[in-house]
Amino acid sequence: MLAKLSYPMKKKAKRLIELKNKLDNTKLNKWLIGLMIISAIYTLAFSERYLTYLPIDAILQSLLDTEVSTTNSFIKIIDFTFLGTLIITTSATYLRIKSINKIKDKFQTLREDIISELDTDLCLCNAQCTCKDDFIKYMEEKDINLIFK
Ligand SMILES: [Zn+2]
Repeated sequence: MLAKLSYPMKKKAKRLIELKNKLDNTKLNKWLIGLMIISAIYTLAFSERYLTYLPIDAILQSLLDTEVSTTNSFIKIIDFTFLGTLIITTSATYLRIKSINKIKDKFQTLREDIISELDTDLCLCNAQCTCKDDFIKYMEEKDINLIFK
């Protein structure tokens, strides 16, 4: 099908299919999100203990002359492991969402660009042809809609 199209349209169609494949293959990682939720729940549940790790709390405690609570170092390691996991999984998920949105934007812009050129710069035929319908159907098979903006 693509062979009948004008050169720029052929390039655009190929690029749109590429973007579609990229979009299909760029998913949010379920395990990463699961880990993010678990570590968020953990850090929220023990948020009071996390506060004691802040130096400001130690200063306050010494000012108030109360006993400085020392958390078991094993618990401390677990706390920081969860906090680190939360930071890493949140950053990774944020970056992934950002890149998905970027591909989506590119895909949508190019798709609308192709739709707007369907009646003018589509193919190389001189006589009346069925390229427009053929092209729309061809892209439909690739799960790309060129009918509705
Ligand atoms: Zn044609």
